Amino acid sequence: MYVEMKHIEKEYGTFKASRDVCFGIEKGRLAALLGPSGSGKTTILRMLAGLETPNSGDIYIAGNRVNDIAPAKRGIGFVFQNYALFRYMTVFDNIAFGLEIQHVPRGEIRRRVQELIELTGLAGMEKRYPNQLSGGQRQRVAFARALAPNPQVLLLDEPFAAIDAKVRQELRNWLKDTIHRVGITSIFVTHDQGEAIEVADDIIVTNQGRVEQVGSPTDVYKNPKTPFVAQFLGSSSIIDTYDSLKGFRRVSGAAKAVIRPEFIKIYKKGAVQQYVNAAEQGVVQALHFRGSHWDVTLKIKDLIVHGEYSLDDEPLQVGEDVQVLIYRLYVFDESHTYLEENQNIQNKDVFYI
Ligand code: ATP
Repeated sequence: MYVEMKHIEKEYGTFKASRDVCFGIEKGRLAALLGPSGSGKTTILRMLAGLETPNSGDIYIAGNRVNDIAPAKRGIGFVFQNYALFRYMTVFDNIAFGLEIQHVPRGEIRRRVQELIELTGLAGMEKRYPNQLSGGQRQRVAFARALAPNPQVLLLDEPFAAIDAKVRQELRNWLKDTIHRVGITSIFVTHDQGEAIEVADDIIVTNQGRVEQVGSPTDVYKNPKTPFVAQFLGSSSIIDTYDSLKGFRRVSGAAKAVIRPEFIKIYKKGAVQQYVNAAEQGVVQALHFRGSHWDVTLKIKDLIVHGEYSLDDEPLQVGEDVQVLIYRLYVFDESHTYLEENQNIQNKDVFYI
């Protein structure tokens, strides 16, 4: 592993911000620290950078234990959430900053900054000041500045938070491509699962100071190891008991279940042709137009379940009776999740991402 955290504990006073945090990232990978607000993501990032000190545990970068190494000597580039650009410096000088303080020769600085300006598509903007740039352009400058001294690892704190939705999508793709092109091992913090799934090679899911799961986006999405991960990823509906649903094996000790929208299919009443016996009766409670589809809130017996409905199908109305096929669900107890297939539906239509 190129970046590794082993049994990290971090306390702020009596508050535990990291609890036995362990994970590793291989060289050249782009990893996301994903979790809800306050789950300890930024604390992990800051400890890797040396901006915070763990109470116990070991941090390794490129095989070296870096706990006692000063931040400036760790070979880390850091992109702050608000970019922290120097307002009174031009784009060129901002990018050159890290090289200047290392007393790199002038000519070499010019060559390196020019190379980064090309890489980040900022040609022609060298003489501008940060307030003459868009949010996306500022992010590119911060990215170039962090890369300038050729760090071993790049850390990015919520890199897309300050950017409006339209540009964000474009920047996500750009950042992913550029990081892979440069080949630098990178870790970014996000609380947006869509962002993590789309951008990262590996996702580290955090919750209440712990690492819940580490894996590829498809792995953590399709095979959640803990109840938290099953609930946190996807637009999950959590139900307190799945006893009343047809076709599911009962797992002893596991009463609760998670149903993802892609696990169910909604039909107009009477439209189910196959597996009629597996169909549940539901009532439409709410409809929200999402551009590409409808988000549908359903009541099935006493359970509230969220699903999606295609724009191509005959429209639904609030209050309408519908039929619902539930293909699978995650059942969980305190510590485990189990993927359960509906035994009454043999043909496995796949609704996964
Ligand atoms: P967010 O997405 O909101 O930034 P996060 O997952 O990055 O959250 P952290 O910033 O790592 O979470 O904070 C984890 C917990 O530690 C929070 O409850 C926070 O209030 C607490 N915390 C962070 N820094 C300090 C500090 N310097 N002193 C005391 N408590 C702190």
